Amino acid sequence: MASWEMVVRRLFGKNVTKQQQKVFILRVKKLWSKKGEHVSSDNSSREVNRVTDTVVSDSRPVQFSPNRVENDTSFEENFSLKNDEVSQEVRYWSPLHKCSDSAVFVLPKKEWDLVYGSVEGRYAKNKDWTDIVRTALKASNSYCSFGFKSHRWNKPTNSKLVFTCQGKCRFDTCQRTFRIDLKELDSKEFQVSYKGEIKHRMNTVVACPLKGSRRAELKNTLRHVAAREQHSESIKKLSEDVFESGNRDLAPNETVLKKARQEARKIQVLDESEMGALQKMFHRQRENSVGEKLPGVLRKWSGEPRSVMLWSEETLRIFHDRTQFDAAYIDATGSIITGVAKEKPFYAYEIVVRHPHKGRAPIAVGTYVANSHNATSIKHFIGSFKSDANKVCGKTRPRLLICDGSVPLIQSVLAEFFEESLETYLSRCFYVVTGTATAEMLAKPFLYLCGSHTMKNMKNLASLVKKRRFSC
Ligand SMILES: [Zn+2]
Repeated sequence: MASWEMVVRRLFGKNVTKQQQKVFILRVKKLWSKKGEHVSSDNSSREVNRVTDTVVSDSRPVQFSPNRVENDTSFEENFSLKNDEVSQEVRYWSPLHKCSDSAVFVLPKKEWDLVYGSVEGRYAKNKDWTDIVRTALKASNSYCSFGFKSHRWNKPTNSKLVFTCQGKCRFDTCQRTFRIDLKELDSKEFQVSYKGEIKHRMNTVVACPLKGSRRAELKNTLRHVAAREQHSESIKKLSEDVFESGNRDLAPNETVLKKARQEARKIQVLDESEMGALQKMFHRQRENSVGEKLPGVLRKWSGEPRSVMLWSEETLRIFHDRTQFDAAYIDATGSIITGVAKEKPFYAYEIVVRHPHKGRAPIAVGTYVANSHNATSIKHFIGSFKSDANKVCGKTRPRLLICDGSVPLIQSVLAEFFEESLETYLSRCFYVVTGTATAEMLAKPFLYLCGSHTMKNMKNLASLVKKRRFSC
């Protein structure tokens, strides 16, 4: 039978696992690299007697019995491996210098108080004690990832040992075990005795569980940092020999970090119903800020149309101060809430002012998130914002506003901020352009349309005219 047919059967047979495929490919590659031109013909495989393997991740013998072809045994002869051959290839890691079999550590006062303060009966109730002790053990052995089997606290009067605990390395091939004894309470000196050889399988990594305050601290970091970035940062901090040992206690893998990040970013909802949660949030912010005219940032909300308005006393003051001599911007953006089926899209409307310091990001002083985008809805937002600004800072009217070409937005800004209709505003603009405007007309605020949007609109209009003239 042709060798190629056998190769295909070995690789793509029904019951061949990926591991078996990988091993098979490695063997064939090595065979071909050794034999070069001799392995090109059908009968070349018969010329090869032995093949060695470099697979280190699995010490079990590899067999292709599910797809074995009874009549052809050439591949079985040439590619099958004996148990000793493979087991010899599995590589292990051991530290370059022998680790000491005894050590002593003293817990810092903060950690000691945390652990000893939580002892009830014979056990410490603070679950961080394992992390605290594990960290202390790293001074004498940073290669093993230790797990704890048992621990016990005794009353100093009843026993010679105040504290004792035992455990072993999590690597299944490692024989390293430890025992920790605290003999005198006053000295706080924990005596560590190690036994067994340190022997980690190469290309295997092990980490202790991420829990307790360590997980909480990492969650805070992960709010603003991607899991992959955090993982690579942790790996960079590992020393070369610790990295090679496979101990990842200080560098949890990406899956664990992603889960912690999801937990960190999960919003704590005050109530199951949306309206109930907003109501509770509103009451809570009133309780927390006594004496303020406008407590918190949540101003108004409604169930139909679904909307929420956000600004604070502080942002209103910024708006008042900045608009005395600078422009304010108003714009809307979509795609802020996705995955809400059978509902109108939500837009976020923002009133923005420039930051007082050049080069810094603009400041959003008022936000309106809604799924209704008509002039009435936007007028309600701008009217409420202006009313609160007047309440906090006195009469507030921006001298110059910039927005895009959206007609509902233009109408709403003119009606609420400028207190005039689109028609009267256009006629005022006409008088200004023709040089016949009165001082009263010039003293009123002006609305600019964004240059980028205007150019785009002009381009579209021009293309329409061009089509009409030349297309037919
Ligand atoms: Zn170990």
